[in-house]
Amino acid sequence: MKILIINAGSSSLKYQLLDMKTETLIAKGNCEKIGLADPVISYKHDGKEDVFKGAKNHEEAIKKVLDILVDKDNGVIKSFDEIDAIGHRVVMGGWIFKESTLIDDKVIEQIEKLSEMAPLHNPANAMGMRACKKVMPNIPQVAIFDTAFHATMPEKAYMYAIKYEDYEKYRIRRYGAHGTSHRYVVQELARVLNKDVKSVNAVTCHIGNGSSITAIKNGESVDTSMGLTPLQGVVMGTRSGDIDPSVVQFLCSHKNQTVDEVLNYLNKECGLLGVSGVSSDHRETTKAAVGGNKRAKLALDLLAYSVKKYIGSYLAVLNGTDAIVFTGGIGENSAEAREQILENMENLGVVLDKEKNNNFKRGQVELISADNSKIKIYVIPTDEELMMARDTVQIVKKLKKSK
Ligand code: AMP
Repeated sequence: MKILIINAGSSSLKYQLLDMKTETLIAKGNCEKIGLADPVISYKHDGKEDVFKGAKNHEEAIKKVLDILVDKDNGVIKSFDEIDAIGHRVVMGGWIFKESTLIDDKVIEQIEKLSEMAPLHNPANAMGMRACKKVMPNIPQVAIFDTAFHATMPEKAYMYAIKYEDYEKYRIRRYGAHGTSHRYVVQELARVLNKDVKSVNAVTCHIGNGSSITAIKNGESVDTSMGLTPLQGVVMGTRSGDIDPSVVQFLCSHKNQTVDEVLNYLNKECGLLGVSGVSSDHRETTKAAVGGNKRAKLALDLLAYSVKKYIGSYLAVLNGTDAIVFTGGIGENSAEAREQILENMENLGVVLDKEKNNNFKRGQVELISADNSKIKIYVIPTDEELMMARDTVQIVKKLKKSK
């Protein structure tokens, strides 16, 4: 079975074609600058990379991607018919979508309705679906939601202590994000622990440009650090993470800015970038810190300390944890970040093996805890697209059975 995975943004559309018989990637790429000047489409396959002229809109982007995939000289499939289904990433499923869902017109409308909660993402996700429906009307499409894995959180974890009437009326609550990644790594963890995922307890740390920490009990999310939006939680590349809401009012009045402007600032100008003044990129900030830049060091300290605090609180929530898992660009690649986050946690049963941590092999599942660590520590590379493709296969199989 071949599955096309689509991740549509407002001016980009990432795609991956996977062979699900072997769970391997056939080709992938990105349509960048859709509708802007000089749009381009990249196409990686068989160790090569080509670049093509891009598209004016999402529908044209999908058409061009399909043409590239079936091209008689450079293509990887002979015809569209080889694509069995399409899986679409959706950022916000809100209170409506608790699992991956077969797409029809009503589902697309509901995804659009949820745009208030994810104005940059949901409209673009829906646009990608409409474009695919137009170009390939007979191929089943599935929506996979970043929030769905967190639908199992209990009320006490997802509620904010605001007036109950406002929670009911406006559905203001914690929804979380990165759910597909947390779900993938806990399944991988179950595999390496040789346990049923339904009996696995873990704290999973997805640390990249955006970051979230999740407490997983019996294979289900019971708490997560991101909130109504991805602004809440740990310190990130450009996001502040947790902040006293009064700071917003303070900045509005002192900088003479609107709430929207301050929220934009908290999302795009803070975090590692804002504190260091160097970069939102962890590697760049680390380089600057090693070179003696004090603000860069402070930014890294803030990030590591905020992750440590979430891990600590989730160890308390779980009261019994098989493992702490690191994933995402920083979690998978930065031994320095992992060491800094986990230092001085021995009394909680968390002991890192520094040698294993430093000598880990990139792109592989690695156990990096010391033998005397009560809680195991793993690096598990995430694969959100594979998780999405697995969901798509499941749903399409059910569809075929019911026919
Ligand atoms: P992501 O959003 O998951 O792609 O992660 C992006 C972050 O991962 C950036 O801050 C990068 O600096 C960081 N990152 C990627 N590769 C490495 C690496 N080899 N060492 C340290 N950080 C890395």
